[in-house]
Amino acid sequence: MTRIDEVWISDPATQKVCAALTDAGAQALFVGGCVRNALLGAPVSDIDIATDARPEQVMELSQAAALKAVPTGIDHGTITVVSGGIAHEITTFRRDVETDGRRAVVAFSDRVEEDAARRDFTMNAIYAQPDGSVLDPLNGLPDLQARHVRFIGTAANRIREDYLRSLRYFRFHAWYGDSKAGFDPDALAAIAENLEGLAGLSRERVGAEMLKLLGAPDPAPSVAAMRQAGVLAQVLPGAEDRALAPLIALEEQAGAEPEPIRRLAAIAPPEIAKTLRLSKAQLQRLTRMRDEASGTATVAELGFRYGEEGGLHETLLRCAFLEQPWSEDLRHALRAGAEADFPIKATDLIPDFTGPALGKKLAELEARWIKSGFALTREDLLGH
Ligand code: ATP
Ligand code: MG
Repeated sequence: MTRIDEVWISDPATQKVCAALTDAGAQALFVGGCVRNALLGAPVSDIDIATDARPEQVMELSQAAALKAVPTGIDHGTITVVSGGIAHEITTFRRDVETDGRRAVVAFSDRVEEDAARRDFTMNAIYAQPDGSVLDPLNGLPDLQARHVRFIGTAANRIREDYLRSLRYFRFHAWYGDSKAGFDPDALAAIAENLEGLAGLSRERVGAEMLKLLGAPDPAPSVAAMRQAGVLAQVLPGAEDRALAPLIALEEQAGAEPEPIRRLAAIAPPEIAKTLRLSKAQLQRLTRMRDEASGTATVAELGFRYGEEGGLHETLLRCAFLEQPWSEDLRHALRAGAEADFPIKATDLIPDFTGPALGKKLAELEARWIKSGFALTREDLLGH
């Protein structure tokens, strides 16, 4: 039998949460990303537990075990139980009663089979007992092993129940799919034939989903498939993914970590990207990346302004847009800029310059210094 044997599952804090349920005769089954990722040997971020206990009972049993329980999603049957500083999302088995393409009306269920059937992909419907033994009601394991992202049931029906699943399909394919096997033509056809509901999704949910997709090691094939299926034009009208694959190749050569905002900047200018309801900080970073990528600052100047890692974003993006190759010289220029110290202080110019004239003079000297490749000294600059 397949078994999960990872530190997080045997963590006493997590076992205590399970025991609070199982000691009362209820089920406690790990499910979703934690099981999928553990079976793949990928990092596990959050712990989801499914149970036949009703939410009020989950609250009571947790509190009786002296665990902090917060009804974070009580309407959907979710209680967050914190143990040992780890959040465990406990959700009562559910089945969908009514769906409108966005939100479902759910009923609680006593059967794990029903709970499994309302999930999205077979690889996301694998369960594990507290002892790590795997429960696989929909035969998700073979799909997971083949890295086949397969809709549970009929893809078109499942998409019409919740259009976010189309986006989740591309996200999970980017993260866990077999890139060589490519996309399942039936799934793509079902997605392409059901585009209209995408417009009804909340922009926040679309934005969150896009950023998760763009955080994958290589999201370019998924984004290209989204374009071909007509999804990209629906969720991000005007986006253009031509520079994305070159950007990913450049990132790899430069040894740059995946960065969703940089990837988003490659496919969408700020006016388009902002429709995803990015945070102010995210939108500012994206705007800066786009501006500098198409601006005239030298690579060394980017390093000076934003640091070696900061300036790398703009440099990679610029190379992707201009179809230029990566070179270690770019890294050296970024580093030289990052390490350079502008030799002039405001006090060097006072009292000859004050107020706005002082700022103007400082900027002018800095520009000359940058233009000299950071070579001009304090004396050179002041003596001029
Ligand atoms: P990760 O948290 O690593 O991104 P995950 O698989 O845990 O991946 P979540 O979005 O946290 O993804 O959802 C947890 C589980 O809930 C999924 O694995 C899936 O079984 C189910 N699920 C989430 N969203 C949907 C949806 N829109 N339709 C059907 N099932 C869903
Ligand atoms: Mg999760």
